[in-house]
Amino acid sequence: MKQSSDRKPSAPPRNVDEHDVIFARMKMKPGTSDWEEYYSTHPEQSASDARARALPGLLSERATNFHPLNFPAADANFDLIEYLQKAVNHPVSDKTSDLTDEVLTHYIKGWTRYLGTHSTGITELFDYHLYTRRGRGVDKGKPIVKRHKYAIAFTVEMDYENVQSAPGSAAIFESSQQYLRSANIALQLTIFLKKLGYDSRAHIDGDYEVICPLVARDAGLGEIGRMGLLMTPLVGPRVRIAVVTTSAPLVPDPYRPDPNMIEFCRVCKKCAVCCPGNSIPAGDMQEIDGMLRWKIDSDSCYRYWCTIGTDCGRCMAVCPFSHSNNLFHNTIRFLIRQSRLFARMVYHADELFYGRKPVPKETPYWMRE
Ligand code: SF4
Ligand code: SF4
Repeated sequence: MKQSSDRKPSAPPRNVDEHDVIFARMKMKPGTSDWEEYYSTHPEQSASDARARALPGLLSERATNFHPLNFPAADANFDLIEYLQKAVNHPVSDKTSDLTDEVLTHYIKGWTRYLGTHSTGITELFDYHLYTRRGRGVDKGKPIVKRHKYAIAFTVEMDYENVQSAPGSAAIFESSQQYLRSANIALQLTIFLKKLGYDSRAHIDGDYEVICPLVARDAGLGEIGRMGLLMTPLVGPRVRIAVVTTSAPLVPDPYRPDPNMIEFCRVCKKCAVCCPGNSIPAGDMQEIDGMLRWKIDSDSCYRYWCTIGTDCGRCMAVCPFSHSNNLFHNTIRFLIRQSRLFARMVYHADELFYGRKPVPKETPYWMRE
């Protein structure tokens, strides 16, 4: 099914330089041209970034949530992802393929399902999906050129138990695990498409040219909620995303707007109430850079990460859409999509059963020291 023009998602102008993403800034070194250029043009970021740099840091032994097993395990996963990043540049075969868009799409969706992805969608690649400039990696500083027609976005589910213990060490263990799993799948697809003769690129943790939640939204995988993450219909934000952009012929999926999920976010605000970094806005959506949305304070969020050593995830853990993927919760999520009134009412039931500020669950037993 082609994307219908009357159900187009909001399309901001293309204006995000990856240097504006805090992870890219934290990789900058004092005295480099990169550092000089960035902080001379963004002096307002200097003090905030200096505060983050002074903290123990992600996976640091000095961090408050240090765990002698989960931290090294997550570190190992992130190291392995760095090795995998080298495979992004696998050469494209010079053969040509006459596979139709339907055949290729059917195969890719079947394969990703077989590999255990939670959801997969395809969208036309739009300008605003891409960063303007690389902020990390060997191509740091280079403008990003749009060279593919389509993007395949997929999600992998994060383990419910590990997420529930956020912001404990199991949270970053789980993130690293799912970043690694999604990187692996994205590279499998990319190398496969290159072998068929189609230029393609995997966008995996630490090596993105695209803004994954926007691509995933336009590929019909969900909406972007209050916490700024993709909210999938079945497990809400409890996913990680990876993307493959490609010149292969594919059949795009329609954007699937979910106004009732947005309405639920308007009244719920649970992530904002529970956020230990005070990083999630409690007010209504704002027009920001050409798009109506909620914008989290990524600086205060990251500072909290650098204090505790994990990537927190408390917002994901408390979100009513993150509840386990079972008949009861799926029925509730289904009814929210059907009725705005139900969406406005049901969050009271969530509060009643789970509490307004639920306490983090214990780390799974096998991780305990
Ligand atoms: S916790 Fe509530 S407000 Fe926050 S993203 Fe989830 S549903 Fe939306
Ligand atoms: S990850 Fe933690 S600090 Fe960051 S927005 Fe979510 S709850 Fe707040």
